[in-house]
Amino acid sequence: MNISVNQFNSPCSCGREHRIEVKDIMISSRAAEALYESMKNGALSGYRRPMIICDENTKAAASGKLSRVWQLCAELVLSPVNLHADNHGVDRVHQAFEEMGAGAETSGGAPDLLLAVGSGTVHDLTRYIAHEKGIPFVSVPTAASVDGFVSTVAAMTWYGMKKTLPAVAPAYVYADTEIFSKAPWRLTASGVSDLLGKYVALADWRIVHEVTGEYICERICRMEEDAMEAVCQCMDGLKAGEADAYEKLMYALLLSGLAMQMIGNSRPASCAEHHVSHLWEMEVINNHVDALHGEKVSIGTVLNIGLYKKIAAAIRAGKCHVKPYEGLELELIRQTFGAKGLYDATMEENTPDPMLQVEPERFVEKLPRIAEIIEALPSEQEIVDLLRRGNCVYDVKQIGLTEEIIPLTMRLSPYVRNRLSFNRMRKMLEY
Ligand SMILES: [Zn+2]
Ligand SMILES: [Zn+2]
Repeated sequence: MNISVNQFNSPCSCGREHRIEVKDIMISSRAAEALYESMKNGALSGYRRPMIICDENTKAAASGKLSRVWQLCAELVLSPVNLHADNHGVDRVHQAFEEMGAGAETSGGAPDLLLAVGSGTVHDLTRYIAHEKGIPFVSVPTAASVDGFVSTVAAMTWYGMKKTLPAVAPAYVYADTEIFSKAPWRLTASGVSDLLGKYVALADWRIVHEVTGEYICERICRMEEDAMEAVCQCMDGLKAGEADAYEKLMYALLLSGLAMQMIGNSRPASCAEHHVSHLWEMEVINNHVDALHGEKVSIGTVLNIGLYKKIAAAIRAGKCHVKPYEGLELELIRQTFGAKGLYDATMEENTPDPMLQVEPERFVEKLPRIAEIIEALPSEQEIVDLLRRGNCVYDVKQIGLTEEIIPLTMRLSPYVRNRLSFNRMRKMLEY
């Protein structure tokens, strides 16, 4: 299937004109062939020095089907050991560029087009480098594992701090079903999990919109809801290995990425549930967690839904009250982020404090509406059942953490990002 991206470029009832940067998206078992054709005779034929960025695993997964594309390109094959979307990963790409004589902008060997052949990490590194070098890149996902393939920003751990860095969206996406449907199940399950996290992200966006008047676009929310619906429908087909189900999952992931592209940030797709994932990635209150992005996100989703449901019940029972805001928990931030040398970076991220947008009177007034938004979400049990159906992770113990980490995780995770979530607004609630 092709996603015709132009349908998203029309003026919107939210008052903004959304812009899609990716020119074309193809999800098909013929995508590898179509990419070759484009490089040989089509839109990509003008590039003289294309270079593939991949790692050893994704090369093994994709170079067979892409053999003719591979022959047209230079390759940069990274070792997958400890390869992450972080400053070390970028250093490794820079170093490889230097070694290939491709580092200098004036060098005849400098690539003029990059092909990201891989999953999330390879894409984040490639989009960052493409932005830095001012050249376009093509996305060739080797697993349906994240929704960030078409994102315009790169989520990176930058000297210990989780950051969203400027990057570019791919010019084209060629998702070949015969490549990404053969990825290890754990990666596919991670993609399912990343999408189910939108339940929390959308609820957060809607609640914050109600209380602070933050901009929202219902059309973009619906795109995310369509993506979640698609993933719920394809779950059994995925487990049966049906190509069609894999294409639906890839479609849903790309749709979520396009929703982010339309607004220019990850607001529609990432909030309290991703903050949990980011906190654990920063290793402030835990040791290194060997889990995929989606696996941490799904646990964040379960934890936040459980918490939100409790608060909604308290609101309905008249037992939830708004109290004055006491400001950033400086001592706690010092003891936790500070112990990792991240006090200043955390304070910078939290300036201005997004909680200052919350007016207590309006918060009180909106409590019934907040309860309504939360009640529309599936219950904690329903989410767990959905995740189990997809063999996804849903419990901290499955990624080597213990339940003791949960309270502090929920208290600290809002501070990893300036983006306002209901979990953060909870700091003004008694229930
Ligand atoms: Zn809109
Ligand atoms: Zn995500």
